[in-house]
Amino acid sequence: MSTNISTAATMPQISYTVTFPEAQAHYADVEMTISNLKQNTLVLKVPVWTPGSYLIREYAKNVEAFSVSAKGNILPFIKTRKNWWSINTQGEKDITIKYRVYCNEISVRTSTVDASHAFISTLGFFMYPEGMLHDASTIHIIPYDGWSKVSTSLAMVNNDPFTVTAPNYDILFDSPIEVGNQDVFGFKAAGVDYEVAMFGTGKYDKERLKKDMAKIVEQETAVYGENPNKRYVFIVHNYAKSGGGLEHLSSTVLGAARDTYASETGYQGFLSLVAHEHFHLWNVKRLRPIALGPFDYDNENYTTDLWIAEGFTAYYEDIILRHAAIIPVDNYLNVLGNDINSVENQAGRKFQSVTDASYDAWIKAYRPNENSANTTISYYSKGSVIAMLLDLEIINDSNAKYSLDDVMRHMYDEYYKGKERGYTDVEFKQGLEKYAGKNLDDFYSKYVYGVDDIDYNTYLGYAGYKITDALVANNDPSLGVTTSTANNKITVTSVLRGGAAWAAGINTDDQIVTVNGTPIANIQDVLTGRKPGDKITINVNRDGQPITLQATLVKNALVKYKIESVDNPTQQQLTVRNKWLKL
Ligand SMILES: [Zn+2]
Repeated sequence: MSTNISTAATMPQISYTVTFPEAQAHYADVEMTISNLKQNTLVLKVPVWTPGSYLIREYAKNVEAFSVSAKGNILPFIKTRKNWWSINTQGEKDITIKYRVYCNEISVRTSTVDASHAFISTLGFFMYPEGMLHDASTIHIIPYDGWSKVSTSLAMVNNDPFTVTAPNYDILFDSPIEVGNQDVFGFKAAGVDYEVAMFGTGKYDKERLKKDMAKIVEQETAVYGENPNKRYVFIVHNYAKSGGGLEHLSSTVLGAARDTYASETGYQGFLSLVAHEHFHLWNVKRLRPIALGPFDYDNENYTTDLWIAEGFTAYYEDIILRHAAIIPVDNYLNVLGNDINSVENQAGRKFQSVTDASYDAWIKAYRPNENSANTTISYYSKGSVIAMLLDLEIINDSNAKYSLDDVMRHMYDEYYKGKERGYTDVEFKQGLEKYAGKNLDDFYSKYVYGVDDIDYNTYLGYAGYKITDALVANNDPSLGVTTSTANNKITVTSVLRGGAAWAAGINTDDQIVTVNGTPIANIQDVLTGRKPGDKITINVNRDGQPITLQATLVKNALVKYKIESVDNPTQQQLTVRNKWLKL
C-alpha cells in the first residue's frame, strides 16, 4: 500500500519522546504529541495484558502524573476506566500528553528502568488513542547518561538509531526496545539479518552462539518453507537468576541466568529457549488460533488452543536441536523422557484436559496455588507430548512421507498466508488429519478433550522405541507432601491428592514437628527406615497450635521413564525413526 502525501498531511500524526531524568529511581517520562485531531473527546488507553502471556497484568497501575495541554494551556480529562483516560480536546487539533511510567519489574514482559539500562516493554508503556490502533507512530528516545545503543526490531527513521517508527500499534506493541550499553552482535541465516543484544555480563561464547543460533534458524525456516522477516532481534537479559522468554513478530526477549552458558546442560537449555521463542515467529505470531489476533487489549482473549501454540512450540524447541544435529539422539531421548515424566507425575493430568488448561490459563496456569498440581496440567508439557504422538502417528501412517512439519507448513500457508486469519479448533484438526490420512476423533477424545492415560508404547513403537520405568520395582514409602525448610522448620507447601498426608488431614502451611515423638530435622527423616503401610503419628504446628495426626504411608507412585530402542527394530520402524529424528 502506498501513502498519499496529501492524505497523510491531514491524518492524525502521533509521536512519543521518551526521557529518563530519574532512571536511577526506575522512572521513564513520556511526552506524546498528536496532531491533526478532529474529535472533541479522545480516549487514551493502556493495554491490560500482553499477548503471549495470558494474565491480566494491569499495566495502567504504573502510570502517574498524567497531563494534557494544547498551546501551553492545560486541557481537562477524566478517567473512565482503570486503564482509560478521556480527554476533552476543546476543539484543539494538536495536543501534548505527558505521563511518567514506573518501571521496576524484571521480566521478559514488563518494563525495567535503572541506571544501567532501560528495557521498554512497549505494550503497557505507550498509551494508544482509542480507534487509532491502525495509525503509525514515531518514537524518539533520549538516552540516560552514557547509554549508547538501542536494540529493537522497529525501523529506524533517517538512520538515527534513537528514532524509530511503527506502522501501527499492533506492531509497536509487538516490538520491545532495549536501550543502554548492551553487547550487540549479529549473524545471517535463512537470508535474514539477526541481531543479538545481550544485557548483563553472561559468560557466553559469541562465536559458538552465532553458529548454533544460525543452525536453529535454518532448521526452523525449513519447517515452514520461508522466513517472513528481513531482520530479527534477540534481546537477552542476563541476571543472577532468570529464565523464560516472550515471543514477538520480529524479535524476542529471553531471560537467562548469567552462569547458564558455563555448563553444557545450561547452554543446551539456552538454545532450547532460543529455538522455542524463535519458532513462535511462525507458530502463534503468524499461524495462530483465531482468538489470538487482532487482539482485544482491554480484556482476556480466550482460546482452547494454547496446547498447539505453546505445546507444539515446546516440542519443537528440542527436536529442532536434534534435527540441527546440535544434540545427539541419546540426549534428545532423555529430554523427551523428562517431558513425559513431568506429565505423568502431575496428579492434575487426570482432571484437566489441555483444551480446558488453555481456556483457563488466565485464572489457573498464570495464577497457581498450593492445589494446582492436583488439579491442573501444563498445556506446555502435555501439549508437547501430544505433538510427539501426532508426529509419530503421521510419519508412521504416511510411510515416512510426511511429518508434523508438513502440517505446520500447510496450516501456515492455508490460514496465515492464504486466508489471512487464525485457525479454528476444527481447522487445525483437519490439517492434522490431512497428513495422518485418517480421522483423529478417537485421538482427540482421549488426549485433547480427554484425560485418558497415554499409550506411549504404541506411538514410540512406530519408531522402534519403548518406555521403561526405572522406578517400577521401587517400594519406597511416600507421605505425599512438598515442603520447604527454613530455620530448621519444615513447612508443608502442598499436599498430593490421594496421598498419605491428604488422607491424614495434613494441610499446606502445617509445620511438621515430630514423627512418632521424635523431632525431625528434614522431611526425609519421616520416611527413613519405613515402608508402605507403616502407620505413623505426626505432630504438626498449625496456626500456632499443636495438632496430632495419624498417617499411613503409601507406596511412592512417582515414575521415571526412559526411552529405549526395542530389540531388533524392523525396517519399517527404522524408516520411521530416521524420518522422526533426521538420522
Ligand atoms: Zn512459548
